[in-house]
Amino acid sequence: MDDDTHKAAELIRNAKRALFLTSAGMSADSNIPTFRDKYGYWRNFPPFKEKNLEAQDLASPWAFRNELPHAWAFYEWRRQNADENVPHEGYGTINKWMKDHLEDGFIHTTNTDGYHLRSGCPADRVLEVHGSMWRLQCLDVCSHQYWHEESVPLCKLDRESMKASNYPTCSRCKGIARPHILMFGDMEYTGHSEQEENFRDFIRRGVDLVILIGSSGAVPTNDYTALQLKNNGAKLININPDPSTNDIAQSEIFLTLKSEEALVKLDQVAFDE
Ligand SMILES: [Zn+2]
Repeated sequence: MDDDTHKAAELIRNAKRALFLTSAGMSADSNIPTFRDKYGYWRNFPPFKEKNLEAQDLASPWAFRNELPHAWAFYEWRRQNADENVPHEGYGTINKWMKDHLEDGFIHTTNTDGYHLRSGCPADRVLEVHGSMWRLQCLDVCSHQYWHEESVPLCKLDRESMKASNYPTCSRCKGIARPHILMFGDMEYTGHSEQEENFRDFIRRGVDLVILIGSSGAVPTNDYTALQLKNNGAKLININPDPSTNDIAQSEIFLTLKSEEALVKLDQVAFDE
C-alpha cells in the first residue's frame, strides 16, 4: 500500500464536509463511453463518420434543429447504454461515506448518466452540472420547465442508420423535446435551479475535503472548482489512472487508480483496517 493511499484514507476518515467532483472516468468504470476518444466514437457510429458528424456536432441544439434523426439517435443510444449498465461499487462507497462518516457531503458531477441518483444518493445532495439524460425540456424553450422521463426505449432507434424516430414532445407546445443536458454551443439549456441552490448552500457552509474523481482535464469544470476550494484551504485528493493527465488543480495527493478501484480501496484502508 503506497503512502498517498494512506494519506488519502486518513483525510477521508477525518473529513467533516466533503465535496465529490466526479467526471467521465467515474462513468467509464461502469462501461459508459466518454466520446472524447474520437476513434471509439467513429467505430461505434459508422453513419456519423460518413457524414463527418462529430460528437460535439450531434450534442448541440444545432443538431436537434438540422439533423434531428441523428441527434436523437445519439442520445437514445446513450440512454439505452446507460440503462443496460449499472452504477459500480464506487458510487455506493460515496453514498456510504456521506451517510455514515461525514457530517455532510455533496456530489458535483459533470456526468449526464444520472448514476449518482440511480445508486441512491440523496436527491438534495447532488448537482448534475451538465444535466441528465433522464430529464427532458422543450427544444424551443416555450417554458423553462424540465420533466423526468426515464422510459427506455424512448425513441424508435434504427442502429444500422443511427436514425431515431417517434420523438418525445413538449406537453405544453407539442413541439420536439430534447435532453435536459448542457450541450455544445448551448444557450438554451434551462438548468436545474434546485440542485444549483443546494450546491451553493453546501459550499457556503464550508468544505474541508475535495475528492476529484476521473477528470482528464478535457472538460475542466470540476478541476477549476477543485483548485478554487483548495486555494480556500480545503484538502484535495485527485483520483485518475493517467499520471500524465493535465493536473489543473495541482493536487497534493494524486492516486493513479481507476475510480471504482480507488474508492473501494480507500474505504477499506480508511474504515476496515
Ligand atoms: Zn414547448
